Amino acid sequence: MVGGLAADGRVIRIDLGSDTKTRPTQAMRQAMAMAEVGDEQVGEDPTTRVLEERVAALLGKEAALFTPSGTMCNQIALAVLCRAGEEVIADKTAHIGNFESGGVSVVARAPIRELDGRRGIFTADQVKAALRHPVRHAPLQRVVSIEQTSNLGGGSIWTLPEIAAVAEVARGAGLLLHMDGARLLNAVVESGVSAQAYAAQMDSVWIDLSKGLGCPVGAVMAGSRDFIEDCWRWKQRLGGALRQSGILAAAGIYALDNHVDRMKDDHANARAFAGVLAQVPGIAIDPANVQTNVIVFDVANTGWRAPDLSEKLLEKGIRVGAMGPTQMRAVTHLDVDRASTTEAAEALAALASKRPA
Ligand SMILES: *Cc1c(COP(=O)(O)O)cnc(C)c1O
Repeated sequence: MVGGLAADGRVIRIDLGSDTKTRPTQAMRQAMAMAEVGDEQVGEDPTTRVLEERVAALLGKEAALFTPSGTMCNQIALAVLCRAGEEVIADKTAHIGNFESGGVSVVARAPIRELDGRRGIFTADQVKAALRHPVRHAPLQRVVSIEQTSNLGGGSIWTLPEIAAVAEVARGAGLLLHMDGARLLNAVVESGVSAQAYAAQMDSVWIDLSKGLGCPVGAVMAGSRDFIEDCWRWKQRLGGALRQSGILAAAGIYALDNHVDRMKDDHANARAFAGVLAQVPGIAIDPANVQTNVIVFDVANTGWRAPDLSEKLLEKGIRVGAMGPTQMRAVTHLDVDRASTTEAAEALAALASKRPA
């Protein structure tokens, strides 16, 4: 079947709601079915171990750890890196502060200091300005967290010099560095910069398997051997230790072999989508800012409210998410080709060009 079903049973033909909407291909399911497996939590699942070694090498780290989700990677990493009450510095749009049910304050028990970055990317000067004097009544600061690519920033890519500048200030202040790399590989295929180079300054870094890579489940975290050993205790504590996870890891290995380079197509589709929307009076979008597979735009000046526009599109079997009263987000991925992307963009443009009924 083409497309899927919304929670209310409506058929969605073209789903740009998120790159999490991909469903495993037949070939991926085949790889999963054939996976060699064992008991993961005692290190006996051979396929999971292969995936972990692949990702450790990809990210240039000593060791890696398979987890059920990217959210769990963020939670585990920050719980390991911070003591209770120690502050995490992150952008105001960061996933850790906005989409993890307050997990960082529950699991790591760490407050987040939000910076006012541009499209999710903050500067070394902003980090410097956020550093606290070492007085007893101020929280200690422990980690600077970078999101590559920035999700709510519209898939924007942190450049190596931007990372290096932030890392220099962070290191100078004795802080550690964490990278939420849910879409790190989107940045890699788009920029040609290696994942190792992006991750070089990081104490902890992870990639998601269930976003652009098209796997049903999973994420992989990497870092030093000691760091990953500490992560294991948190993974166990949170119920993330698994059994025959090779079934899932096999999808990850398949995706690393087959679904990385093709993300360039998703980026080209995203630019095409943005190009159509940019022609519509009242839609605020700069196609030059669309670097990868996420398109964030504002419909305030069309007279529409984002949830209403999203609903009208759903009636046509097309999903584009409302992120707020006037902000919308579309995300391209391997289940949406160029023709479908264009159809969705044109449907959205036609609706937004008319005043709402
Ligand atoms: C999706 C996402 C996560 C969480 O990953 P899950 O696998 O969905 O738990 C974290 N950070 C960013 C930037 C994301 O887009």
